[in-house]
Amino acid sequence: MSTKYIFVTGGVTSSLGKGIICASLGRLLVARGLRVTIQKLDPYINVDPGTMNPYEHGEVYVTDDGAETDLDLGHYERFLDVKTSQDNNVTTGRVYYDVITKERKGEYLGKTVQVIPHITDEIKSHVLRLGQSDNYDVVITEVGGTVGDIESLPYIEAMRQLRYDVGRKNTLSIHLTLVPYLAAAGELKTKPTQHSVRTLSESGLSPDILVCRSEYDLDNSIRSKIAQFCNVENEDVIASLDAESIYEVPLLMREEGLDRRVIEKLGLPTKNPDLTKWTEFVERIKHPETRIQIALVGKYVEHHDAYKSIVEALIHGGAMNNAGIDIHWVQSDDLTEENVEKELGDVSGILVAPGFGGRGIEGKLSAVKYAREKQIPMLGICLGMQCAVIEFARNIAGMAGANSTEFDETTAYPVIDFMPDQRDIQEKGGTMRLGKYDCKLTEGSKAMMAYDKEMIEERHRHRFELNNELREKLIEAGLIVSGVNPERNLVEIIELENHPWYVGVQFHPELRSTVYDPHPLFVSFVKAALENSAVSTGSHTEKASI
Ligand code: GLN
Repeated sequence: MSTKYIFVTGGVTSSLGKGIICASLGRLLVARGLRVTIQKLDPYINVDPGTMNPYEHGEVYVTDDGAETDLDLGHYERFLDVKTSQDNNVTTGRVYYDVITKERKGEYLGKTVQVIPHITDEIKSHVLRLGQSDNYDVVITEVGGTVGDIESLPYIEAMRQLRYDVGRKNTLSIHLTLVPYLAAAGELKTKPTQHSVRTLSESGLSPDILVCRSEYDLDNSIRSKIAQFCNVENEDVIASLDAESIYEVPLLMREEGLDRRVIEKLGLPTKNPDLTKWTEFVERIKHPETRIQIALVGKYVEHHDAYKSIVEALIHGGAMNNAGIDIHWVQSDDLTEENVEKELGDVSGILVAPGFGGRGIEGKLSAVKYAREKQIPMLGICLGMQCAVIEFARNIAGMAGANSTEFDETTAYPVIDFMPDQRDIQEKGGTMRLGKYDCKLTEGSKAMMAYDKEMIEERHRHRFELNNELREKLIEAGLIVSGVNPERNLVEIIELENHPWYVGVQFHPELRSTVYDPHPLFVSFVKAALENSAVSTGSHTEKASI
């Protein structure tokens, strides 16, 4: 069977949830036994999102092979349980960078290099690379941005050409639009969809299926009207209503027949989708036995997308423990030794988030100290782990003024310092320690209990690490090093003695948590938080401190 290509474009407005629709369709196709991957094409000029700040872009999702990518790839992995890679996210910056590099090498010698065919060819080659890898039956390509944007045009043109290159019967065009409700008129309005489809069709890429985001169900008359004006069959107008949880969307799309229409149109030989496990998961998150509050301490908390994978991993960990998670967002800038009790006194667990730069550090230090003293389960991720080390050094190991050289280059105790190979790096793009590395766990540690194996692999994104020159001193003072990268002897996990659950990880476990394979550290953290809330008398101040 030749690989099938599905192109997903968006119209009317941004933020319609194209990534979730792609991930949901992907899940339904995987559930039918197909091998599927999803790719995101982003029309911005950055080579990757690694240099953008989280307010601008949300979380930067890191793949096993160390690509810094769009957060939609996180949804793809969580929904499909299929790993993505560098090839799954391509930006305009990357495309131009590669074309210009080839031009300088003389690969187009004699030719004028142009958007068509050179840029479009480069875009097509990224789509085909996945399709020709023999790993997938279906490649879903999500085109970022909104139809009509100047910067989306080369992508739309590349998709139009691809329909002919690989054969019309091997491709499908899905367009996601908005059908708004006008309260004053008391009506759903189809005009924006008509315009969006017209714009797309003018570029030669008519949609085969329309997925219509709407706050209200589309009745038959609306569906027929959209079908008639937009040149599709009634059955190809799929309503996508707001869902309580993103994990319900595959089930809603199944009810609407999205996957059925896709396989019919592409002539894919498949079985009925098996969604038993998925449905069970959705039931668990919709009807948990109990609920607990977890504080998420970070400096970008106004912008929840900055912590997308962490939030989802907490949901997965909660589901495994039959617990719903209420996140108490805590702005680290505002957290002090004085108000920490008020802010964190009622939570069952504290998660201290990753981050870059000195803003909000003192707040994070107050949070880890509070968790340590009050015996509250704490998961520190990357910068969160580094803060746990700094706080331990200052307050337990007697290293007054200990710090990371990221924030204080002249500290007497640089407990967190540049990794040796990072010191001389000048360029910012793609130069951190990125992607998957091995880690060996220590027998008897909380980490080992959670993972239940000795060797693990986790994804990284950092320049600093625990300073090996001060490691012994920290260990002597009681810090437990429970995970080490064997190749370079880098500390990857720290823990505390005499604490129910206090774990700091240099890597990002949240990036590997999926619905079908919830991350063991998150499962274990939520379990500890639940136990903590069970023993809690309502105030953590009454519990023993070490
Ligand atoms: N800023 C820290 C470093 O570069 C932590 C990075 C992170 O939290 N992802 O090491």
